[in-house]
Amino acid sequence: MKTIGYSRQSINDSDIAAMTEVLRGDWLTQGPAVTAFENVVAAYCGAKHAVAACNGTATLHLAMLALKIGPGNLVWTSPNSFVASANCARYCGADVDFVDIDPVDGNMSMTALAEKLAAAKRSNRLPDVIIPVHFAGEPIDLEALAVLKHEYGFKVVEDAAHALGASYKGKPIGDCRFSEAASFSFHPVKSITSGEGGMVVTNDDEIARRLRLMVSHGLERDPARMNEPSHGAWFHQVFEIGMNYRLTDIQAALGWNQMQRLDSFIDKRQALAARYDERLAGLPIQPLRHNAPGRRSALHLYVIRIAQNGDPERRRKVYDTLRAAGINTQVHYIPIHTQPAYRALGFKHGDFPQAEAYYRDVLSLPLYPDLTTADQDRVLTSLRAALG
Ligand SMILES: *Cc1c(COP(=O)(O)O)cnc(C)c1O
Repeated sequence: MKTIGYSRQSINDSDIAAMTEVLRGDWLTQGPAVTAFENVVAAYCGAKHAVAACNGTATLHLAMLALKIGPGNLVWTSPNSFVASANCARYCGADVDFVDIDPVDGNMSMTALAEKLAAAKRSNRLPDVIIPVHFAGEPIDLEALAVLKHEYGFKVVEDAAHALGASYKGKPIGDCRFSEAASFSFHPVKSITSGEGGMVVTNDDEIARRLRLMVSHGLERDPARMNEPSHGAWFHQVFEIGMNYRLTDIQAALGWNQMQRLDSFIDKRQALAARYDERLAGLPIQPLRHNAPGRRSALHLYVIRIAQNGDPERRRKVYDTLRAAGINTQVHYIPIHTQPAYRALGFKHGDFPQAEAYYRDVLSLPLYPDLTTADQDRVLTSLRAALG
């Protein structure tokens, strides 16, 4: 029997043709396909600038570098995320802290955030940057965050790795009207893929300039910014040490081509999620809220909470039973602060109780554009059996 995973890419002949065309051309990296990909994502999001990079972890790191985050700075994020949301600040030597979640949708709780900010102000240790995560593709309440941003003066970098194609109050995630920047990932399980890949979008010219500098070794080529006369057309100076986080033209061609189908991918995810909503009703599980009023989710994940009913091993048993039936679900996420590398910084179990309780019950069911309704029915039948 075919194995069904929790997510997978959707590749067609036109994707393959787009990549082949690049291979026959003049550029393999940083050519016209990267620019075209950046332009199509910027236009889709309604952002002024987009800078491509080799993955969504690199784009988060670049956003930190562009904002000059370093030792002594403080960055807050959600404990219910992939470790990259916190690691990006650690790469820069900044301190990290977390804000507990709202178990209704798995996103950072705006109530917990407001309380933590008020306490941080009293102890004079406000965060410099907050990295909210649009978990599972469901937008956070950006207007509520903007009110706090205005009051406390922190910067916002949206970890939008799950949320390309989502919208908030009718406008796309990535328009950055409430943030300094937003970061996307094009890993094969995300809304669209470029194999590996990422993109940062911003409306700020200076942030965009710094992103472009840091994505490719920090090479300064603008004579107006140099501290000695140019030696010739080859000349560049390095004032700040950057990275090599470039995306290739081969990958960008795939990403550009996938962008043409982004809306249809999200529509399929939405339709399959609605089918889950309908057919799961009455089972002893609780799906996370999605498509809250004013928000349209990218439905990156379809997460259910499995009531323990006195058996703390119940989720594990359901996972194992489904796996034995050829259905590979996933768990999103092990709270970041409980990872050994973060416990070594002083975090401990009990620090973010909502995220920890949530982690014990959740399971992400298979959801991706090419999932057939027959496959989905197989998931539903096995899930019903596993729940007993
Ligand atoms: C996938 C993901 C990233 C990192 O993206 P990569 O392209 O895999 O490096 C960052 N944050 C979240 C929440 C993600 O899901």
